[in-house]
Amino acid sequence: MSAPAIEISGLRKSYGDVEAVRGIDLSVAEGEVFALLGPNGAGKTTTVEILEGFRLRTAGDVRVLGIDPARRDRRLKSQIGIVLQSTGIDPYLTVAETIDLYRAYYPSPRPVGEIIELVGLVEKRDTRVSKLSGGQQRRLDVAIALAGDPTLLFLDEPTTGFDPSARRNAWEVVKNLESLGKTIFLTTHYMDEAQYLAKQVAVIASGEIVAQGSPDSLGGRDTAATLIRFVLPPGPAELPATVCGGATVTDGIAQVQTPDPTRTLHELTGWALARGVALEGLIVTRPSLEDVYIELTKGEQSVEVG
Ligand code: ATP
Repeated sequence: MSAPAIEISGLRKSYGDVEAVRGIDLSVAEGEVFALLGPNGAGKTTTVEILEGFRLRTAGDVRVLGIDPARRDRRLKSQIGIVLQSTGIDPYLTVAETIDLYRAYYPSPRPVGEIIELVGLVEKRDTRVSKLSGGQQRRLDVAIALAGDPTLLFLDEPTTGFDPSARRNAWEVVKNLESLGKTIFLTTHYMDEAQYLAKQVAVIASGEIVAQGSPDSLGGRDTAATLIRFVLPPGPAELPATVCGGATVTDGIAQVQTPDPTRTLHELTGWALARGVALEGLIVTRPSLEDVYIELTKGEQSVEVG
């Protein structure tokens, strides 16, 4: 097995009296899309900027592609891609010219055409930067981060402020990069984004990691009880005895929590069929990543959900 792309142990960062990061351990495998989730002020940007070499840590050990980012090593700089805001880009240059300009800083840049295709700006190749929409400019920011053909890319809240279709497009860009074997470290407030993109997620709250795992297993999602809901059929119908214990009825909606949904559904539908009634509005759900996230970060500041 190859060494992890990112390894963090016991990382701490204080700003005066404020302990922004309070001893976190994380490991990101090579080629993995990793999402760091957390409410406002949880310590995400602080962590990312320490990994990028923009901030110095107070304590702990950090390795990014095997190198301590605090050393500001040139080899590391040429292997990581950081998405900055488009401010500072010459508005009179075209998309292709802008990317080309940044390619000149790197020893083995990626071909311009490939970068433009990866970020979905083929039709805007010869358009001036000043004529791009906000979403297209953000794609250009990603394109610039790809100029040096980095092996590791940092995406800090990549879709904040995007409309739904621009978000989908941005997700496809991330999927393209993943298929090229890039390691991607992203921070986000959007649960659907983490669910769709990330192989591993970590939730940070008040500077500490409160949960870590795949989006499907986070916080015990995979073993949590399944919820079955339906409109209670009219008439003097009793629920089957086996589900009676766990069922609640509110405003005519019956709700059953079960660790064994196959069996419980069989009992319920068998019971309904035997009485010739339908289970209107039947829904079977598991706690969403958002449910788990809200539970994990209870008491923290507010969070945007997508
Ligand atoms: P958001 O989702 O709002 O971007 P975040 O998870 O990225 O939040 P950070 O920006 O890392 O959070 O901030 C963590 C804590 O550190 C906050 O309490 C913040 O006020 C504090 N902090 C961040 N930067 C500084 C700084 N330069 N000086 C003092 N305190 C800071």
